[in-house]
Formats: sequence, C-alpha cells, structure tokens
Amino acid sequence: MSLLFGPVKSRRLGLSLGVELVPSKICSMDCLYCEVGKTTTLTTLRASYLPWEEIEKALYEAKEREEEYEVLTFTGSGEPTLNIHFERAVEFARNLIKKPISVLTNSSTLNIETVRRALSEVDYVLASLDAAREKSFKLVNRPAEGVSLREIIMGLKNLREEMKGELWLEILLVKGVNDSEEDLKVLREVIEYINPHKVQLNTVVRPPAYAVAKPLSFEELEKVRAYLGERAEIITPKDKKIEGISFKRNLEELLFDYLSRRPAPLTELTEVFKDSEELKRVLQNLIKEGKIKRLLYQGEVYFSA
Ligand code: SF4
Repeated sequence: MSLLFGPVKSRRLGLSLGVELVPSKICSMDCLYCEVGKTTTLTTLRASYLPWEEIEKALYEAKEREEEYEVLTFTGSGEPTLNIHFERAVEFARNLIKKPISVLTNSSTLNIETVRRALSEVDYVLASLDAAREKSFKLVNRPAEGVSLREIIMGLKNLREEMKGELWLEILLVKGVNDSEEDLKVLREVIEYINPHKVQLNTVVRPPAYAVAKPLSFEELEKVRAYLGERAEIITPKDKKIEGISFKRNLEELLFDYLSRRPAPLTELTEVFKDSEELKRVLQNLIKEGKIKRLLYQGEVYFSA
C-alpha cells in the first residue's frame, strides 16, 4: 500500500495529500475518541516503523503529483513523529516539494529538540491539546507511560516561539470527560500561555475507538468557542461536508484506502468519490468480500475497513 493518502479536501487545509509515517495503530496515546480505532502499540518509542526507502519513494511520488493538491500533510494512523525518520522526511520534502507542508501531531514528542526543529520549519503544525488538567488529560488521551502533560505544554510554548510557519492548536471535547468548567478555565489560561495562531475546536463526529466517547452539541461547542475567545473556531463540520477528491487510481483501491484511515458515512463518500452509482456497486463488493463493514453511529450508517 502506498504511504500516500488522498488528496482529500480538508476544511482546514484545502486539498491535502497525506503521507502516512506510521502504520495503524502505533501511537503514544489511546484517545477515547480516536477515529482510527484502539491503539494496538501504545508506546513513546521512536523507531523505523516504516523504512526510509518507502518514505522517500512516497515523497518522489508526491512530487510527481504536485498538481493534484494544495498542501502535503504528514500524518499517520497513529503519531507520525514516532517514526525516527520524521525529521529527515520533513527536510527532504521541504527541498523537493514546492507546495506548503503541514504536520498533524498529538504533541507528545515536542520535548524532543530535533522534532521541534523539524516542525518549526513547516508551514502548518496542527497540534492536539485536548486537556490542560492532568486528570482529564489521562481520561481523554490515555497516554503511554512517560508522556507528560507539563512537557507537552512546554513543548507547544517553545514550538510557538520557534515556528516560522503557524501553530494551530486542536482541542477535541468529549462530553463529560474534558469539557467541565474547570477544564475550560485551565485550557483558556494555557492557550494564553502558548499563544497559538489558531485554536480549533472539535468533538466526536466519527465512530470513536471507545463507545463511551460522546459528542458535544453544536450549541455547546459555540459556548466553548465564545468562552475561549477570538482566536477559537469550530472545525466540526455542521453538515460533515467534504468536497470532491481528484483521483486517477482505481476506485476500489481508493475507497478501501480511505476507509482504512477512518470510518465514513455514505453522504461523505458520495461527495468525496463523486460517482455515486459506481460507488455503491464498489461498496457492495467490498462488503461481500469482507473488506469493509457497516457501523451504526449516532443514528447514521458508517462504512469502515
Ligand atoms: S487521536 Fe491521534 S493521538 Fe489519539 S490515539 Fe488516535 S492517532 Fe493517537
């Protein structure tokens, strides 16, 4: 399977081509709400989870497909910075690719100077900080031993000061877990301290790893947004709309790839993959072959690989 994913129309980044740096599901956290599923390897160990040769090959392919996307995003079905080749991959991509580069991270490796230095060179870092209180942090993110909330906050503060591009802080709120008044009060103070370029609020919009994770309503998110101040914005799609995807590869392969990363409802797949008749036929085939399944979440049918 190629390490490239998409391009997908992301509300935050535009047309984004993903580069997966860790296989499913290697992560330093096991978040209640994770849309990729439960973490199977919970670790802080940085290792060659995918060999450099594969990453290099994917980046050369991304170069060839440069016309197809607006931003190249390092991500993974887990934490991308756990790959020991992360710093090299960023540097290589910066020299090779003309388009902006972004990274999605759970912020757990920001205490490592080389990781921070690599991140400081990209255009957008989308870093997670779901809670600023130890108890809620442990409940919502279920971190590996050795992941320290204090070091995450310090790492974010340092990264903000070092960044040439922009730091966008993502806060995902789970009802009754990290959305109390006390949680939001401390989060607001920490946001002031870190001073990110943007604060992006989200909630549980896809089937979570743990059924206990429930979403906030849009109205509740609005109240939090108002409380957190001007730089906060809600990124939860009201209508879960994702615009069209441009692709040249085989639909079955693309669809399976897409659903391997995260479950998606038919409405989203129809918008992303456009041809709904062909899409339904391919979905049926994948179900028959046992490659994907249906899931019911919040009254909506999702497909998941
Ligand atoms: S949401 Fe991100 S940080 Fe949390 S378990 Fe999933 S991949 Fe890891």
